[in-house]
Amino acid sequence: MSTIIYVDMDYFFAACEELKHPELKGKQFVVGTSAFEDRMLKGVVQTCNYETRKLGIHSAMPLIEAFRIKPDLAYLPEDYEYYESTSKKIVDLLKSYGFRIEVDSIDEVAMEALDTSYDRALELSKEIKARINDRIGLPCTIGVSFGKTFAKMACDDAKPNGIKVLTEADVKDFLREKPVEELPGIGKKTGDRLRAMGFDTIGRLSKASAVALYGEFGEAGRYMFLIANGTETEKIVENEEAQSIGRERAVRLNPADRIEVESILGKLSGEVSAEAKKQNLLYKTVTLKVRYNDFTIHIKSMTLNHYINSVELLNETVLGLSRYIDATKEVNKIGVKVSTLVSMKGQNTLF
Ligand SMILES: [Mg+2]
Repeated sequence: MSTIIYVDMDYFFAACEELKHPELKGKQFVVGTSAFEDRMLKGVVQTCNYETRKLGIHSAMPLIEAFRIKPDLAYLPEDYEYYESTSKKIVDLLKSYGFRIEVDSIDEVAMEALDTSYDRALELSKEIKARINDRIGLPCTIGVSFGKTFAKMACDDAKPNGIKVLTEADVKDFLREKPVEELPGIGKKTGDRLRAMGFDTIGRLSKASAVALYGEFGEAGRYMFLIANGTETEKIVENEEAQSIGRERAVRLNPADRIEVESILGKLSGEVSAEAKKQNLLYKTVTLKVRYNDFTIHIKSMTLNHYINSVELLNETVLGLSRYIDATKEVNKIGVKVSTLVSMKGQNTLF
């Protein structure tokens, strides 16, 4: 049996800023002001630390609103290069355990601990937490369970700075009273539909018929059924993500505003391209990821005929993919990623 150990860094960008500027520790601040450069106050909060969250400020909030709440906060620009290099150190540290790993995002990693009991996984988690703290200087939270989704849910439950083990025996109790919106990937809209069907808690949802859920929501309904019943056992997908270069931003974007869409995608393509050049890599697959404000996610990829490292071609491809964005919804996160990488010197093919 394999046990999933899910590591999620606490308020990652903000914690990185505290590492860089120790004088900020314990003070209130917000990260996300690179938007100041060209458009005063048009951006949104990328992240903030827990002290700042107490004021009611949160990620994806327009900066202007944060300003209204507290104008004299420290407002910092994002330093993606620093976050990326810190993330890489964390991934390297986790890789040293020798398990298969999946990098879920810049600050979330799932590990598949083969033949590992929950007791042993708990011990390992304590050790991992201590090592990340000692060697990198950052806090994290760890969730342990039999499937990836439950490990992630356990992790969310233990935030910040905690560890939680969720076993087959505990999972039903754990889920019973949770509102349906806490199912991973369920946004407000789907939550409202489930409530209208009479399912306000995950416990109630577990009584639904699989056929009815499938009929109403398709594949997503099947997934909901498995999670609600505590029988979902998603394993990890070993790592395409580590062999890709991506950048994403929390935004408040109306997709119908093409000028705005092109401006943000131009910036992201520029950053991805610069990173690929720095690492001497060519790429062939381009992915655009969009998260709408109902938290549904839209991913569109395209694999080109040739390896490229041109910012113009990348931008053109990304703009092509952006035609598929649903223009009737607001977007709250957008990202560009390149994968199928090959070293420019041709000697270090990654696949
Ligand atoms: Mg995190």
